[in-house]
Amino acid sequence: MNRFDDDIQEMLAILKDRGITDARLLRSMATVKRHLFVPEPFTSRAYEDSALPIGKMQTISQPYTVAFMTQALGVRVGDKILEIGTGSGYQAAVLAELGAKVFTIERHQELLSAARKIFDRLDYRIASKSGDGTVGWSEFAPFNGIIVTAGAPDVPDPLLKQLVDGGKLVIPVGDLEMQNLLIVTRTGNRYDKREVHGFKFVPLVGKMGWAKG
Ligand code: SAM
Repeated sequence: MNRFDDDIQEMLAILKDRGITDARLLRSMATVKRHLFVPEPFTSRAYEDSALPIGKMQTISQPYTVAFMTQALGVRVGDKILEIGTGSGYQAAVLAELGAKVFTIERHQELLSAARKIFDRLDYRIASKSGDGTVGWSEFAPFNGIIVTAGAPDVPDPLLKQLVDGGKLVIPVGDLEMQNLLIVTRTGNRYDKREVHGFKFVPLVGKMGWAKG
């Protein structure tokens, strides 16, 4: 029994209530120790369904958002997944727990260093680098899925190009206040979009993103 067990059960109940049905995903989120990714003084609130500060004016996304985006990505064991916006490292750890080969990019070196320490501690083998993720990671492309965890003004073209045929890109797109989640599926050179309304992310800053945060 650990001190977060009840909080974890409450988080799972909220996720199920809000329509998260993927049992493998729920198991992964029950397994990944979210409290290790949330710095003090917010650690005791780690399993609340809210975004929390992680430093550098950035946040760890709320559990529902992580679950919704991951479910939309439809991750299979062995899939190569690129994440843009490592932040705390929590989303990357959930993807790794699902059996994906995870590649993640973060523009703040300090956040990336903190996330890498937790990956090592929990024995997650995750490839990571610091830099501008809006141009993707061409050395390791193509990816079965790409997940962008910061809000973009538009869909960065390089990310579409780095998807396998049949691959999915999940990305919040909108203005700085509100975004819609776009779920883009590539079929050959066709990109079909589904849109889900009402998400709020920190800005995606970079060559194919916003000029500054
Ligand atoms: N996935 C994160 C987690 O599990 O904690 C949440 C990330 S936070 C909502 C978004 C992150 O995207 C921030 O850490 C921010 O620094 C990062 N970011 C913004 N623009 C970026 C870019 N162009 N390339 C890489 N990271 C970026």
